[in-house]
Amino acid sequence: MEDVAARAHSRLKPEQASPPTRVDALPLAAWYRAHGRHDLPWRHTMDPWHILVSEFMLHQTQVSRVIEYWTPFVTQWPTPKTFAEAPLPDILRAWKGLGYPRRARNLQDAATHIWQQGWPENESGLLALPGIGTYTARAMRILAWNDGACQLPLDVNIARVFWRLTATAGEVETTGWSMSRRELVYALFDLGSLICRARTPLCPQCPLSSSCTAFGTGMDSAPLLRKRQAPYRGSFRELRSAVLALCLADSTLSIAALEKRSVHILGRAPERNEIERALRSLAADGLLQMTLTEDHPL
Ligand code: SF4
Repeated sequence: MEDVAARAHSRLKPEQASPPTRVDALPLAAWYRAHGRHDLPWRHTMDPWHILVSEFMLHQTQVSRVIEYWTPFVTQWPTPKTFAEAPLPDILRAWKGLGYPRRARNLQDAATHIWQQGWPENESGLLALPGIGTYTARAMRILAWNDGACQLPLDVNIARVFWRLTATAGEVETTGWSMSRRELVYALFDLGSLICRARTPLCPQCPLSSSCTAFGTGMDSAPLLRKRQAPYRGSFRELRSAVLALCLADSTLSIAALEKRSVHILGRAPERNEIERALRSLAADGLLQMTLTEDHPL
């Protein structure tokens, strides 16, 4: 999940900043008990490693897809040590289909640090780990350690709910919520995903409707929160993914062979310089190493 707090606030003019807004959130607890996504497997563990794996996967990948991957992943690599010691190609093959494989590499680097030095004791220590930003550090403090003093992690769903509740990007006063910090975060994730949806919020069904500034207005959060992603089909991401998949299947392929075989994945013939750019990009991310030969210089 993406940390949107900094992006949201960076788009506000100073005079738009507002003090925390109090919201009567007692009905949220009852709604969460009845309608929350309690079946998500990573909500049934307090193992910080397993929760960290879910957070890395959920960043930029939909819940429905992560469900397929998370259990096999933490079964195969149940501890930071097992993951740190795994060959990177094995990890990347298991990650295939989740997208943005750089996350897998960062997760392995983070696992190595945790295995060798233990879990960081505070937010700044978590922020020093590869691939962990403010959102993930706060999510870990609350979801893995139920830290009641930690600020809420603002992913796109929670930020949208707060934006609509207050009609500003100001903070929401969260004292008095009748749940643990961990349950509160899960409830807000679910409210943003199931009820306070980006395009069509279901205001009449919302447990926070009596406190909401945007009730029934369909207030658009797009100017503040939505970041459109370019289509995957035909993108450089698609080409990178195809090249990585081919290299994981056969690590001895030449550039000419990659050009030829990627046609079957992409449905088009990529230029040689596109293949070279993808290889350089993957190597820069630490996802593969290239061997230069006279026949296939880059
Ligand atoms: S009342 Fe509507 S806009 Fe307000 S938080 Fe609920 S679903 Fe979102």
